[in-house]
Amino acid sequence: MEKISYVFFVDFDGTITKTDVCETIIAKLAGPGWKEINKKWERKELSTLACAKETFKLFTRKDPEAFQEIVETVEVNEGFKAFVAYCQTKGYPIYILSDGYDYYIEYILNREGLTLPYYSNKLTFSADLEVATPHHSKDCGLCGVCKTALIQQLRKKAEKSIYIGDGSSDFCPAEKVDYVFAKKRLLNHCLSLGRQVYSFNNFKDILNQMQRLEEGQ
Ligand SMILES: [Mg+2]
Ligand SMILES: [Zn+2]
Repeated sequence: MEKISYVFFVDFDGTITKTDVCETIIAKLAGPGWKEINKKWERKELSTLACAKETFKLFTRKDPEAFQEIVETVEVNEGFKAFVAYCQTKGYPIYILSDGYDYYIEYILNREGLTLPYYSNKLTFSADLEVATPHHSKDCGLCGVCKTALIQQLRKKAEKSIYIGDGSSDFCPAEKVDYVFAKKRLLNHCLSLGRQVYSFNNFKDILNQMQRLEEGQ
């Protein structure tokens, strides 16, 4: 019997981390008005790039130190390192797909001693905050990082694909995979579509469910 191999696509903010890093930075550094902009983004009336540009205009501090203070308080979700070790032992690829920013993903992964491929937007601290979206897709036009387009590129035929996420930027990619692990908005979204979904709080729950999947239950 041929062994099934899996490939994991994992959101970063609020999934790998306990809190949404991007949202925390905005809530702490942006002046009034950011919630309305965020709502428009959630309703897909604004692209990630347009949303970021509008939101950064409201920032009261734009220096890296202000960002760093916040990022240092962010914790990685329970069991994530064990999950990475499990995937490495089994040879299952993990791709981090984030509509957040390279700068804090890089910092947090480094701090945890983890090296994983990730796709995200780019943030540059210069006179103003500059955002680049090298992984956007022409067909989509909304996402900064089009997770759906990346999954189609990175998934290999023999592998069962698994998506792990929590937010609205995960709605579309979660429809393109074999299995979904979800919490919060993504969980509600999957349930409202009647899609089969595994709910999770942390990566220990995911490891437990993976064991059941591997045993064919
Ligand atoms: Mg998220
Ligand atoms: Zn997209």
